[in-house]
Amino acid sequence: MSHTLTVQWTIEPQSAPRPWLACNRCGGHRPFVCSGKTRLNANGRRLDAWLIYRCAVCEDTWNRPIFERRNVASVAPDVLAALQSNDPVWVRQAAFDIEGLRQCTDRIEDLADSNVERHVLGGSAGCARLEIVLVVRQASSLRVDRLLSAELALSRARLSKLETKGRLTLLPESRKALQRPIRDGSRIVLDLTAEDDRAEIARRARGGP
Ligand SMILES: [Zn+2]
Repeated sequence: MSHTLTVQWTIEPQSAPRPWLACNRCGGHRPFVCSGKTRLNANGRRLDAWLIYRCAVCEDTWNRPIFERRNVASVAPDVLAALQSNDPVWVRQAAFDIEGLRQCTDRIEDLADSNVERHVLGGSAGCARLEIVLVVRQASSLRVDRLLSAELALSRARLSKLETKGRLTLLPESRKALQRPIRDGSRIVLDLTAEDDRAEIARRARGGP
């Protein structure tokens, strides 16, 4: 019998990351929420495209530039069609494009409301070692500790203690593993030998009854 319970977590974020920006209307820095709408402006042969966001407090708009002054001939036809029709698949991809958002602001808030699909790859709930393989198709700034805290119902203080004791590691290995953003293909390894509630933790990790 294997001594490791290996589970795969496929993480599908539900809410797009929220850029924090200075709001012109209500003042101060506010989170902005993607409206799902795009705006296209033609100026002769030149096109501007934006993704529209709204201030979470006063709903004032912020136009996030997708491209500016682009020659219409250089815009891929499927992108143009998506922009003209507010294509939800395209909009979702743009809304989750964290690297693109980073060009507009340093502060991006990633909500922890991810849908996590669990799949047992091997081992049983009685195992003292738990290995979680992450599948993250959309770049995310969600931190490892926030994910584990939400999905395993463990406090961040407890997770931090496990890490200090060397009972929680991230592979490929990195320092301050808990503060890292989740990455596709990385593995979280937990040694639960000393945890009285390891069966409960394993149950949460693999899901089901
Ligand atoms: Zn506002």
